[in-house]
Amino acid sequence: MSGWRDVLCGTLTADDVGRRLTLAGWADTRRDHGGLVFVDLRDHTGKVQLVVNPEHAPDAAATAHEIRNEFVLQAEGEVVRRAPEAVNPNLPTGEVEVQVETLRILSRSTPLPFQLDEEGVDEQLRLRYRWLDMRTPRMQRNLRVGHTAVAAIRRTMDELGFVDVWTPSMTRGTPEGARDFLVPVRLQPGRFFALAQSPQLFKQLCMVGGLDRYYQIATCWRDEDLRADRQFEFRQLDLEMAFVDRDDVLDVLEAAVVAATASAGRTPPPRPFPRLSFAEAMRRYGSDKPDLRFALEIEDATELTRDSSFGVFANAPVVRYLAAPRAFSRAELARLEEIAKEWGAKGLAYLVHDSSGELRSPIAKFLSDEELAAFRSEPGTTLVFAADTEETVTRVLGGLRTHLGRELELADPDADAFHWVLDFPLFEHDEDSGGWTFMHHPFTAAVPGEEDRIESDPGHVLGQHYDLIWNGWELGSGSIRIHQAEVQQAIFRVMGMSDEEQRDKFGFLLDALAMGAPPHGGFAMGLDRFLALLVGEPDIRQVIAFPKVSSGSDPLTGAPTPYPDAALKDLGIRLLPET
Ligand code: ASP
Repeated sequence: MSGWRDVLCGTLTADDVGRRLTLAGWADTRRDHGGLVFVDLRDHTGKVQLVVNPEHAPDAAATAHEIRNEFVLQAEGEVVRRAPEAVNPNLPTGEVEVQVETLRILSRSTPLPFQLDEEGVDEQLRLRYRWLDMRTPRMQRNLRVGHTAVAAIRRTMDELGFVDVWTPSMTRGTPEGARDFLVPVRLQPGRFFALAQSPQLFKQLCMVGGLDRYYQIATCWRDEDLRADRQFEFRQLDLEMAFVDRDDVLDVLEAAVVAATASAGRTPPPRPFPRLSFAEAMRRYGSDKPDLRFALEIEDATELTRDSSFGVFANAPVVRYLAAPRAFSRAELARLEEIAKEWGAKGLAYLVHDSSGELRSPIAKFLSDEELAAFRSEPGTTLVFAADTEETVTRVLGGLRTHLGRELELADPDADAFHWVLDFPLFEHDEDSGGWTFMHHPFTAAVPGEEDRIESDPGHVLGQHYDLIWNGWELGSGSIRIHQAEVQQAIFRVMGMSDEEQRDKFGFLLDALAMGAPPHGGFAMGLDRFLALLVGEPDIRQVIAFPKVSSGSDPLTGAPTPYPDAALKDLGIRLLPET
């Protein structure tokens, strides 16, 4: 191994009995028992018990008394079999222990801010002392499984002929829908690089450059509010392929996902992953990233309620409902109504079929026999309705579906639901400008045959954009790209960009597309999201070695920090007074 140690702590077995070995690691615990001192010595492979007997090794025993948790030790001694009553079946090394002859303290530790085996340690504290937190089995597993999965992905990409190309972090703004992080430039005060929101245009240029298949585990920077699945900086498996159609790209992603899940010891999802159009996802689940581990589909009652005596139904353009498998109490319904209102509902109509099959509902008296028969459900079911425009109904029931899925624990925690969402609209209304903006990014191609309508009817053009969803988390997005300069310009025009602005911001792309650009498409999968789901963590901070917290700071280094005026002056920056 090395001069410091002959073996790793967690690897000793009965086969090692009789060997004289040197070990090194951290003191996990120390126990004194009538003269004997027991120390559990730990490294990343596990623990082994050291026994120090003052009669055999008086110097080592004196040293052992000084040991506190998390001291770093080196011990030399003989591996012996434990007495039968002392065997610890819960420990892989539990049949043996090391009779210490010499013991050295290599490094001491101040008293710890938290114990490594303590439950529920405040996350801010864990991150402030991340080096301690990293020694816990949880973080060791997360970071190591992360490594294994990334290695499996890299192997897959290599086998499939992808070339790993490094692209710049400091670049021009890339339109991925977030704010840019800016980097001032001392040599050109007043000018800024943007940190790449993704390598999008560089990977497209790699295709124009004839690389054929590009990939990168790319770091991306986006100035957005931090959430369970968002950090300022994150990694993605970023790829691009020339001369491909949508299904070729989906195939590669599925191969990478399957390899990575298998590498982590999970049952890989069967291929091909199910596919859903955007329209269908919105209609059936009220979301473009539905969790398909549970059914709970949105049902339509628009036709049925056209002539309803219940005016709220009859007058609404669309009436839909969810049949939740529980007879909710009044208090629970009041809470659901609050949630529905947060999603834009004016109120919440409901029908409760209680456990004896009785109907409880303030609206039942307005409904016809035909309506009541159609809404008849199993005992123990509540129908919650949304009656409004299609957009509002979709949003409200989508929000309620997600909420109910969580509240009623409808998803089987051991199930895995991967699926694709396809055929997104190319544009959506931009509330700020009143015009059109891209749904994904402005480089996505229209579905073949729809190009002619890009400028005349942008709201109805479908794009060749696809999202990958795992258990309700959007893992990533991709698209077939525009490879003709004229089409790219039409898209920019729909977004309200003048020729001048197009040249100024994207002249390099338009030039490249005008010089022999092959048809191409690609994808980016958020690695941290993928890894969090892979190891069963609720947020991506648990799979990132040094993440930021939701205020946008790093509890470990204290960044971001102010800079002295002199340093800012060099960059041509003067700060506004704080407001
Ligand atoms: N650049 C896109 C993103 O980062 C992914 C892609 O279209 O390949 O979301």
